[in-house]
Amino acid sequence: MTEKIIILSDGRSKPLTIPADLAPPTGEVRDRLARPLRDLRISITDRCNFRCVYCMPKEVFDKDYQYLPHSSLLTFEEIARVARQFVAHGVEKIRLTGGEPLLRKNIERLIEMLAQLTTVDGKPLDLTLTTNGSLLARKAKALKEAGLQRVTVSLDALDDATFRAMNDVDFAVADVLEGIEAAYDAGLGPIKVNMVVKAGMNEQEILPMARHFRNTPHILRFIEFMDVGASNGWNMKDVIPSAEIVRRIGAEMPLAAIDPNYTGETAARWRYTDGGGEIGVISSVTQAFCRDCTRARLSTEGKLYTCLFATQGHDLRALLREGHSDAELSAAIGELWRVRGDRYSELRTINTDGLARTAARKVEMSYIGG
Ligand code: SAM
Ligand code: SF4
Ligand code: SF4
Repeated sequence: MTEKIIILSDGRSKPLTIPADLAPPTGEVRDRLARPLRDLRISITDRCNFRCVYCMPKEVFDKDYQYLPHSSLLTFEEIARVARQFVAHGVEKIRLTGGEPLLRKNIERLIEMLAQLTTVDGKPLDLTLTTNGSLLARKAKALKEAGLQRVTVSLDALDDATFRAMNDVDFAVADVLEGIEAAYDAGLGPIKVNMVVKAGMNEQEILPMARHFRNTPHILRFIEFMDVGASNGWNMKDVIPSAEIVRRIGAEMPLAAIDPNYTGETAARWRYTDGGGEIGVISSVTQAFCRDCTRARLSTEGKLYTCLFATQGHDLRALLREGHSDAELSAAIGELWRVRGDRYSELRTINTDGLARTAARKVEMSYIGG
């Protein structure tokens, strides 16, 4: 039987230490494995209107499920203040996520605030958002006007019955497709479409999805079902390795590998040899990419995570609400990154036994935002 209670916001978070030396940020901070800090993912809500079977299964996230009270969430002002410190340490890309980020009221106001930030080289931030697409048709234009540059849309099947079974709230695939087109028309492209592949659930949709998005401006990416959180009943048997996905598509529509756009890109890129565009595969399980991981994550209630699979976050909200100065916040963030040594996926590849030991304690995807 599935365990009912999942502790998302918890007493297990660690305090964030302010170092004695408040040296100002230099625009470049490296962790113990010499990885710079370049990306920040911010979860802005723990709520969602979907119940994807691999993320927020209905049996756990039911009507009695306790979401965070509004007062626990970081305010837009707090988020923008934190984002400013991260940008000063070298962050160039910010991704808003959740839960479903478009459920957060007045999200356009937050986007306007973040769009004003520039990187240490004076360039505009790469400001993007991951969404299930359900509200995109309605919101795309306003998001673009607020300063959002791109969106990534999650879509796990083209077949309506399969899609409804994956989102588990009977949401129609046509509405997400409409959202993708609205986002493209609003100028939020190139749009990445992310499909999580779960064996026996939607793997038969790999080819129809590839055929559908071939010869379109959108980039389809396949994600291996990951062992995030503790509620999705993950099992290696449910994972279709990326190499197998590439093999299946390539057998019908020949593919050739292409170089990454930048170091640390999570997706390996493949192009159709006949010029029909490209696909990506994200091998989070079968091929660790920790070596180039430049991502920090900020949870809905202001805990900082230096790895998606971390068991504990660092309480940045406490510092914000205790009235610390920007110099103190910045120094604390810099120091946390300097001591970072996370490489969970790499270690998992080396020793899969480790999974069993950590599975019960990891944070949920809907809380930390993927
Ligand atoms: N609700 C938004 C959405 O679905 O796009 C944003 C949040 S969602 C947690 C972010 C991404 O994580 C989605 O693309 C989703 O498919 C992916 N995801 C969630 N659980 C996953 C899992 N167990 N394995 C792989 N990807 C997962
Ligand atoms: Fe919601 Fe996204 Fe998780 Fe699906 S993957 S349940 S849409 S947060
Ligand atoms: Fe980065 Fe952690 Fe994922 Fe490795 S396991 S790529 S360190 S988030």
